[in-house]
Amino acid sequence: MASRLWMPRCGARTRNGGPCNASKIPGRKRCKWHGGLSTGPRTAAGKLISLRNLVQNRRHELNH
Ligand SMILES: [Zn+2]
Repeated sequence: MASRLWMPRCGARTRNGGPCNASKIPGRKRCKWHGGLSTGPRTAAGKLISLRNLVQNRRHELNH
């Protein structure tokens, strides 16, 4: 009965030292924020793009 309500937790350690309370992805060991989804390369590319945009914006501000 209770098994339907039980959502397996990610359990990864977060910045505040507590376990991650996000429910893990079915078939995976972690939640979507801790490697549960296979979006590694996409995420890395997104980080690069966002970082580049940040630097460009900073330079733009400095030029003013
Ligand atoms: Zn997590």
